[in-house]
Amino acid sequence: MKIALITGASRGIGEAIARALARDGFRVVINCSRSGERAGELAEELGGIAFTADVSDMDQVRQMYDEIGGVDVLVCNAGISEYGMFSDTTPEAWRRVFAVNTDGAYNCIQCALPDMIHKKSGVILTLSSVWGLHGASCEAAYSSSKAAIIGLTRALAKELGPSGIRVNCIAPGVIETDMMAGFSAEDKAELTDKTPLCRLGKPVDVAELAAFLVSDKADFITGQVIGVDGGFGL
Ligand code: NAP
Repeated sequence: MKIALITGASRGIGEAIARALARDGFRVVINCSRSGERAGELAEELGGIAFTADVSDMDQVRQMYDEIGGVDVLVCNAGISEYGMFSDTTPEAWRRVFAVNTDGAYNCIQCALPDMIHKKSGVILTLSSVWGLHGASCEAAYSSSKAAIIGLTRALAKELGPSGIRVNCIAPGVIETDMMAGFSAEDKAELTDKTPLCRLGKPVDVAELAAFLVSDKADFITGQVIGVDGGFGL
């Protein structure tokens, strides 16, 4: 049975991806940093395993890989957002967003690679954002960290293709999860108005693309950044 590690899978988009991959026959590893109990319940339901590790901390990530061994699929989904004017963004807040969103991907990919390169196969999926492509006012740290993920994805697709490893990126638009908790009903109505398909996204919208990209059906697809945003980024 192939193993898929999904970071930040205790809720939201990560949970939906874990559900889709478990349905498709993967043994899923449900990672999160704080919601261990929820991750444990989900892992039990899906026949997978849960692992609490802060992806920004290389020691914790290494320990996680030491316990699970190699993975066939890595989904770098864990992420945090930070809202506020750039001039009010403290160095600590800036660094924390990059530590989780960007260093987190670095840490998880570094630990996954030796085994993938040895096997000459593997699939890595990263999560950027429509804001990583277009930038968002009052989300400079988040937008920058997600733009970095796009560069990382494309660079690694070139570097790792000859080793049989595919690397792709999903750039979701506005998806209704806890990450949207700070948005008022009015904000959401405005975002819906700006979306050609006239609704906000659901985690499962992202999960179905993830399931396709990690499957053999996507065997000739690498280095791509694919939006799931109802046309929001157009
Ligand atoms: P969410 O509902 O807030 O869930 C975030 C997940 O990441 C949780 O499982 C959380 O668990 C985990 N997490 C946070 N910090 C972590 C850390 N340091 N180490 C390990 N796990 C950590 O977020 P979401 O909306 O599902 O977002 C998932 C991904 O999609 C993120 O990368 C986000 O940037 C991206 N995205 C989301 C949207 C959107 O509109 N929702 C749009 C574009 C892109 P714990 O709290 O227990 O650690």
